This record gives sequence, C-alpha cells and structure tokens, in this order.
Amino acid sequence: MRGGSIAVVGGSIAGSAFARAATRQGAERVVVLERSPGRLEDRGVGICILDDRFAELVGAGHVTEDVRRHRLTVRRWITRDASRGGDARGRHLWAQPFAFHSYHWGVLWQALRERMPGNVEYRLGTTVTAVGTGEDDAWITDTTGAREPYDLVIGADGYRSVVREAVCPDALPEYAGYVCWRGSYDAERLAELPGGAEAWPEQECATVCYPGGQVVIYRIPGVTPGRTQVNWVFYAPAPAWLRLDGPTSIPAGTLDDGRADELKALAERELPPYWAALVTLTPLERTFLQPIYDLATPRRTAGRLLLAGDAATVVRPHNTSGAVKALQDAHAFEDAWRAGRSWAATLSAYDRERVTMGRELVELGRRLGRAQVGAAPDWSTMDEPGMIAWWQQQLTGSGGFGGHALTRRS
Ligand SMILES: Cc1cc2nc3c(=O)[nH]c(=O)nc-3n(C[C@H](O)[C@H](O)[C@H](O)COP(=O)(O)OP(=O)(O)OC[C@H]3O[C@@H](n4cnc5c(N)ncnc54)[C@H](O)[C@@H]3O)c2cc1C
Repeated sequence: MRGGSIAVVGGSIAGSAFARAATRQGAERVVVLERSPGRLEDRGVGICILDDRFAELVGAGHVTEDVRRHRLTVRRWITRDASRGGDARGRHLWAQPFAFHSYHWGVLWQALRERMPGNVEYRLGTTVTAVGTGEDDAWITDTTGAREPYDLVIGADGYRSVVREAVCPDALPEYAGYVCWRGSYDAERLAELPGGAEAWPEQECATVCYPGGQVVIYRIPGVTPGRTQVNWVFYAPAPAWLRLDGPTSIPAGTLDDGRADELKALAERELPPYWAALVTLTPLERTFLQPIYDLATPRRTAGRLLLAGDAATVVRPHNTSGAVKALQDAHAFEDAWRAGRSWAATLSAYDRERVTMGRELVELGRRLGRAQVGAAPDWSTMDEPGMIAWWQQQLTGSGGFGGHALTRRS
C-alpha cells in the first residue's frame, strides 16, 4: 500500500517518529500539527534509554548511533540513615549494574527532527481542537475552525490527547497518588557543593530513597555540545496546594518561591546533605512538577484514527520506557503498513501488536511504583542482598524494565 495523506497531531518524540515512518512507507502527504509555537528542543529534561533497546532502534533505522548521550554504568541506591554509618552522601545500599545512556530530551528530539524528510510539512503553533472519523477518511479542526480531511489522523499528542477522546473517550489517565518534582542545571555548578563534582562519579545514576519516595539523579548531555547537565526526578507526595481536577502538570517557569521552598524543606528533611544541596541548587525557572499517571487504552485505533506514544499508554517513569515505547510504536506501524493491503488491515494489525504490550508496561510501572514509592520497604533495614531480592520481586511477570525487546516481522 502506498500514498495517502496523513495528519500527525503532536510533534514530539512519537509524532516525529510516526511522520518519518509514514514517509518511509510512501505516504504522499504528511502534515505535523504541533501546539507549541517555540523551539521544542528547549524542553530541558533528561531521559534514560536501555542500551539494548537503543541498539535495536538504531538497527531498525529509527535513530542514529551518533545522538549525543551520557554513559551510565551503575545505579547506586542510597538512603540517609546516619545511625548506620551514612555520611554526607548517605548510606550505600546497592550498586546495581545499569546498562543505560542518558539523553537530553531536546537533543534526542532534534536528532529525530533532523532525519525528517524535507517534504513533511511542520505547522508549529497549531492546536488541534477536535478530530473525527468516517469509514474512508478522518478530519481535524484547529483553533481557526478550519476542517481538513486526511486518509489517516495519528494522535501523538501526549497524555491529554484530543485524538484519544475520539478513539476511546472513557480512557483517562489515572492519578497514581504521588507526583514528581523535576529539575536540571549546568553540571559546572556541582563545584559549589561541599565535596564538589568528584563526590559523584560521572557514570553513576544515584537513587536516593526516603520514606515516601525517592530521587533519581543523573547527568545528561547539555543542549550545547561539550556541556553536561545535572537532571533529577524527585518522587514525593502531592503538595497540599496542587489541584488535580484532571490530568495536569506545573510547567517550568510557573512555580513561585513559596512552593519551591516546600521542595527545599522536603529535600533537607529527607535526603543526605550532599543530595539535598544538589537539588536545592536548581534555579526556580528550571524546576517543575508532574503528577504521575497510568493509562492503558483498550484500543489504539477507530476508523481512520490511530494513537501513538503517551496518547495511547502512559507508563510510570520508574520503568524508563516511554521514549522507547513511542519509537517502537512507529516501528510497529511501519511493519503493519508494509504487510497491510488496506488501511483497515494496517490499523488492525497495529492495534493487535501494541495494545497488550502497552497494558503489560503499565502494569510493570505500577508494580515498580508500589515497591519503590507507595509501599517502599523500611530502607533502614535494607542491605545489598535484601535490595537484590527486592528488585527481583518487582520484575516477576512479563518483564520489560526499560521496554520490551523490539519484535521485527520484516
Ligand atoms: C518524570 C518523567 C521521567 C521520564 N523518564 C523517562 C526515561 O528516563 N526514559 C524514557 O524513555 N521515558 C521517560 N519518560 C517518558 C517520556 O518522556 C514520554 O513517554 C515520551 O516523551 C512521550 O512522548 P510522546 O511524543 O508520546 O508525548 P509528548 O512528549 O507528551 O508529546 C506530545 C506533543 O503533542 C503536542 N500536543 C498536545 N496536544 C496537542 C494538540 N491538541 N494539538 C497539537 N499538538 C498537541 C504537545 O505540545 C507535545 O509536543 C519520563 C516521563 C516523565 C513524566
């Protein structure tokens, strides 16, 4: 099957991967509609990707090996626990082997964007307000009220997807009961900490555990080549001021000093001094907050609509699989397209391939979240053998930490 016109709603990781996948398979016209008017590469957050999953995606042609990244080899689990020998960096619990690299979200996005064929039309600053489908086509409307028909509309519009409302209106992200604060800054500032940057080896991802949560801290590449940033994700109970009437987040630049002071107080109360100081070095405008959600849609397609990435499945970040999942969705879409003789066959093959996988990842994310945050052990009783046994228990079942292996049918 070749040809056809395709609208991709959302131009982030999933949107970029699907736009490229569609052109690779011979779509005649591909239009990406992205709400954000500005430079998406400025979104300053880190993500980790398991080396094996990344290598598979390179092999399948979705990313290139030369994306700037930071090597991680060890995930060091730590707790404060001064009574059992914890120093300024805390008490060591476990040095877990960790075959991951970390990426700057914006650098990864830029790499995907650069590989986009020139004939893909990008409309930045365009918000899609509604979509719909008939048997033989689909349509979108944007804020101007204009309605445009396409052969296929792909919803890569994230956890608050407009396209999902049309595919499965009852599927809504479910609040997991806790939030994460996030932040990043130039790693040169680590010199300001007592102990400096040397106290924290470059290839270590630190996971600092406390009753009620944990902070995951790792370095990522800076937007500028040659620079490095510190990136952290601080899981915590929701602050009293947060209103959760529906899926939401508190973006960078909108927190005030009072709310940031709550984070500082939490860090100083719960973390060993080195890590508390590392978190509190973060500039206010680089600090933000995201509630944690779970979402597994019962189906991914309806008529000529298709869901991709976080629009279809939101997995708790403990699983470090979101970016891989989005890229693998694009891979499955290409496989389905290559094998399908009609749009209906392509969409139903894609749906079959990805729905169960999504459910399994969400389930694993829930299990990891319960074990590490909601019903975490008493860290003061844990040692290395205890940590290894505790980790193994979390992975029973379908597996998929860091994402499932890529299946290739081509
Ligand atoms: C705290 C945290 C840590 C994470 N860590 C990792 C990690 O270590 N490794 C990993 O692999 N994943 C991680 N993830 C998950 C990962 O970031 C996401 O799964 C991934 O970025 C999803 O990409 P996406 O393209 O599907 O959605 P998004 O990145 O949410 O993109 C959706 C896009 O759609 C646009 N949009 C939305 N609505 C509209 C509209 N109506 N019209 C037009 N455009 C619209 C938005 O502006 C946005 O650009 C983490 C997530 C969180 C919250």
